[in-house]
Amino acid sequence: MPLDSYNRDINYLRISLTDACNLRCVYCMPEQMSFRPRDELLFDDELRRLITIFAATGFRKIRFTGGEPTLRPALVDLVRHAHQTAGIESVGLTTNGVLLAGLAAPLRAAGLRSVNLSLDTLDADKFRQITRWGNLPDVLAGLHAAAAAGLGIKLNAVVSRGTNDRDDVVALARFTIGHAWQVRFIEQMPFGNNAGFQKKNIVDEDELLAVLTGEFGPLELVDNGRLDGEARLYRIPGAAGCIGFISPVSKPFCADCNRLRLTADGILRLCLLRDNEADLRPLLRGGASDAEITAFIQRSVQLKPWGHGLAQDVMPVARGMSEIGG
Ligand code: SAM
Repeated sequence: MPLDSYNRDINYLRISLTDACNLRCVYCMPEQMSFRPRDELLFDDELRRLITIFAATGFRKIRFTGGEPTLRPALVDLVRHAHQTAGIESVGLTTNGVLLAGLAAPLRAAGLRSVNLSLDTLDADKFRQITRWGNLPDVLAGLHAAAAAGLGIKLNAVVSRGTNDRDDVVALARFTIGHAWQVRFIEQMPFGNNAGFQKKNIVDEDELLAVLTGEFGPLELVDNGRLDGEARLYRIPGAAGCIGFISPVSKPFCADCNRLRLTADGILRLCLLRDNEADLRPLLRGGASDAEITAFIQRSVQLKPWGHGLAQDVMPVARGMSEIGG
């Protein structure tokens, strides 16, 4: 297993399949975003090779993200490859759900077991306002197709003050009463290209918990507050699903970080919120052997920083969230 220099077991790789997206969420990227040319992105066979090498290096978990990963034509094939790779125990997908209705069943057949679907509100007008380009019914069709295909479901909502921090949060949380889904509320994070980001827009866990308690009564803490991935889980008494809080700003979980991120253009990002990077593409395109790439990955794991520096006002500026993958 690859232990980093702080003795964390780094076994989880998030792979961005493209920096392009079919939405323009206001907290994620500007509307006039330009994307990388196709030949700067890793090719499908390069991705397949890397998945095999990462698995042999000790990585156990792969998540495909983006940009919007459903825009990548080979998505189903890459899921199948990851699922069939010796050593990989879990394959995940993070998507905005716009194209999921047609993909949920093939993805399930390829070995996907669960999907993280980003959904910030159930109000169609507000959904359009937040995503700039999105139609809520497309996403709800994707959600229902995922459920019908037997995929486990986690809904991720980024909460912004004054936009979706009251009724929207309550409506999303209500989903957990009748569905065995997780609905997770994510604190907004600063990146180089979400210039509109303001600290005062962050709505933290304690404030949201108070909103939800006001509506549903006291929530039950699940598993004594032990994190499930990055989320602290609660349950409305008697509910089928859970409510989660992902709070990288107000309650950082760097001590439990077990991940590296691979951008669509082949950069290993060692911390989501720091610009420490290691470029794999020159090795891939320069004829490096599997052993050389393995050694590069192992060295990169050793260089993983302890944690982010938001409290010291250290912000990532090299890339936006859509260029990293979340
Ligand atoms: N397009 C896919 C999706 O929408 O899930 C995958 C990529 S998207 C960058 C991954 C997640 O990052 C989404 O849940 C999105 O809401 C979240 N996100 C984007 N910008 C963010 C920010 N500034 N702070 C917190 N989360 C953010």
